[in-house]
Amino acid sequence: MLQSEESIEDELSYRPPGCEHPEDPAGLLHTPIVPCLPGTLGRMIDLHLHSTCSDGSESPTAVVGLAAAAGCSTIALTDHDGLAGLKEAAAAAAAAGIGFVRGCEVSCSFSPGTLHLLAYFVEDEEGPLPDMLADMRSDRSARNERLVARLRELGYPVSLDAVGAVAGSDVIGRPHFASVLVGLGAASSVQDAFDRILGKGRPAYVSKAHVSAPEAIAAAKESGAVAVLAHPLSLGLGPVELDSQIAELAELGLGGLECYYGRYAPDERSGLAAIASSHGLVATGGSDFHGTFKPGLFVGTGTGDLEVPDAAVRELEARRA
Ligand code: AMP
Ligand code: ZN
Ligand code: FE
Ligand code: FE
Repeated sequence: MLQSEESIEDELSYRPPGCEHPEDPAGLLHTPIVPCLPGTLGRMIDLHLHSTCSDGSESPTAVVGLAAAAGCSTIALTDHDGLAGLKEAAAAAAAAGIGFVRGCEVSCSFSPGTLHLLAYFVEDEEGPLPDMLADMRSDRSARNERLVARLRELGYPVSLDAVGAVAGSDVIGRPHFASVLVGLGAASSVQDAFDRILGKGRPAYVSKAHVSAPEAIAAAKESGAVAVLAHPLSLGLGPVELDSQIAELAELGLGGLECYYGRYAPDERSGLAAIASSHGLVATGGSDFHGTFKPGLFVGTGTGDLEVPDAAVRELEARRA
């Protein structure tokens, strides 16, 4: 059942021309370039969404519009390394009558795979977690300069200006580099750029300076937030190691496990929900929507079958210190 984020290539072949949700017949709630697939659960939520404030292609307001069209009752915006989109998204969510949770995603050091923590209910703009995010943004900038140099060494004429032009904010990530490589004709798709050039173990892989998971969990707790392990199968661990790693993180104060992840199969989701339950963690979920930077993933419904029950929001909130 275990699969790492790096190895996933599946893309949805079905591309709906636009959202045909009954409450949005004219498709006014979202930009036509990124369609939505409405859910059927009615009370579904999506607690993992990226916007132009990190490496998503849609603005915070557009992401909220897609969530409304999909039928989400509550969403969290979880941009990498920053909180810049939260104010705009919260206002759009209030206008659309959707519950909103302030979140972010933090990359932590881990081997063999990757360890990402989602932090929810980050209410303050200052404090241990926001300070940690600011440090991560400056590490990211330094990494991006090394990544440009590495790509140029490999013969790809990439410039930081070109990558910045693709990005909507100062949080520039590898999906933006991938998009530039596609524009140069060096890759056939964002996924192809990751698979051959930018992904872990590929020639242009340049790691960021990550924080440790214990540090990030502690900073989240000190900031009144709840930490959740994102896409747990990306850790790249077998079943026994995965269980003991999750136990260790739970001991440190992890509040939840992202069981209902956009790209996970039904048996992977239920397997993770059983692990969450055995360690007293909230089973959360989300699509990891990035718009055109991760084609085939839709707000709320993931690859089409994701439906995260909204009880997770109340359970998560109850974990706040
Ligand atoms: P960065 O934080 O700049 O290192 O970029 C991380 C982003 O790249 C995340 O949104 C990941 O989902 C995406 N990413 C990482 N590895 C892959 C991969 N192998 N294929 C597609 N996207 C990836
Ligand atoms: Zn991302
Ligand atoms: Fe992630
Ligand atoms: Fe993410």
